[in-house]
Amino acid sequence: MSPAVPVFLYHAVMDDPPAWIAEFTVTPREFAAHLDAVVDSGRTPVTISAFADHLAGRAPLPPRPVLLTFDDGFADLPGPTADALAARGLPATAYLTTGAIAAGGRSLLPPAPMMSLDRVAELERSGMEIGSHTVTHAQLDTLTDRQLRAELHDSKAVLEDTLGHPVPHLAYPHGYNSPRVRATAARTGYETATAVRHALSSEQDERYRIARLIVRRSHTVADVETWLAGDGARIAPYRDGPKTIAWRWYRRARTALHGPAFAG
Ligand SMILES: [Zn+2]
Repeated sequence: MSPAVPVFLYHAVMDDPPAWIAEFTVTPREFAAHLDAVVDSGRTPVTISAFADHLAGRAPLPPRPVLLTFDDGFADLPGPTADALAARGLPATAYLTTGAIAAGGRSLLPPAPMMSLDRVAELERSGMEIGSHTVTHAQLDTLTDRQLRAELHDSKAVLEDTLGHPVPHLAYPHGYNSPRVRATAARTGYETATAVRHALSSEQDERYRIARLIVRRSHTVADVETWLAGDGARIAPYRDGPKTIAWRWYRRARTALHGPAFAG
């Protein structure tokens, strides 16, 4: 089996998060301890572009890579979070929900302190690669083809206009995807997409559903160290199990009845 590549998924890093995101928020103090564990692990942090170059056969990865990713675009990202990464020389990737950060934009995310689109270029300069996390944070595998294309295309276009270069990387909201979603991501011009899967990625992982590990409030530095050692979770790629497939059909039926909603 191919060696594990941990891809960590963070959301907000703050002391007083809104209740809906608290489970997926770590404090700045815990976050600093996690980053120190990454440095101490001897792994080499890389961006999603470096991983994409490897998966496409364009360039090799350094030995023992690790990826740090941040979803949604919370307010701490271009401030203390980017500073904590930069202080340790750690590259990372930020996947932004454009409807939640653009002036006058709309998204399904409940209220929270978010960063603004006019700080995206600054965030990139600080050492974070920018990817798309759709416009509204919809459950992509429940949408019509037309809605799906708009979510994937419009968020990419907004970020590309802001940054002045291609934005070829995507993270699926809630990690939800399907064969149709993955094919549409490829057709829309994305080179990679990250999912969730609660698994370690690997050098053989699938480009359009790279496995990530969600870091929750309840996780300890020891959990992070276990993942950095390549243990504590299964290693992708592997096929979806019947539960994942049944859950997708349930969510799709619910969306058909009630319209798009935040998955909670
Ligand atoms: Zn998200």
